[in-house]
Amino acid sequence: MTDKITDPHVERRMRRFLQPDGRCYYCERPADHLHPVGPLVVTVKEPNDEELHHEFCCWECLGHWAAVQAGWDNYPLPLDT
Ligand SMILES: [Zn+2]
Repeated sequence: MTDKITDPHVERRMRRFLQPDGRCYYCERPADHLHPVGPLVVTVKEPNDEELHHEFCCWECLGHWAAVQAGWDNYPLPLDT
């Protein structure tokens, strides 16, 4: 039996993990809302050569995401600027 993802937030995050959709991977705001800063695109190359691309709206969101990936505790979302 397969558990269906029922939380729309988690479902959106999972979809965005596999395929960027124009929204920030961290805060979910449009990735270009701070143009010309964003979107900032990070490419993660997996050991099997598969590439994942994540879009961020600003350096702050990218930094928060990178800190969590590096093992730091999750940080609150950045304040609106
Ligand atoms: Zn963001």
